[in-house]
Amino acid sequence: MQWWDEMEECSRKEAAFKSVDWWIVPSGDLKNGLIGFLHRPSDAIYLDVAHVYAKGIVQHEILHVLDTRPGHPVPPWEVCAPTWAMLP
Ligand SMILES: [Zn+2]
Repeated sequence: MQWWDEMEECSRKEAAFKSVDWWIVPSGDLKNGLIGFLHRPSDAIYLDVAHVYAKGIVQHEILHVLDTRPGHPVPPWEVCAPTWAMLP
């Protein structure tokens, strides 16, 4: 997956694409106005259907899989994926 590969290359971290379950949910169904988030420890990415093709949002969640540290430490954040894609 191109977007996944880009994040691996930029962050120099790797994870198996197949290790993550992807769930597309109806718009507005995620809590707290979220449009995407990574659930641990199940490693499931939930995306609002309206943002499935939003590269910044999807790569933000992918980077959370690759970089397991809490928050958005720079780098790789801002360098590889924008933090604006994080949720309120
Ligand atoms: Zn985030």
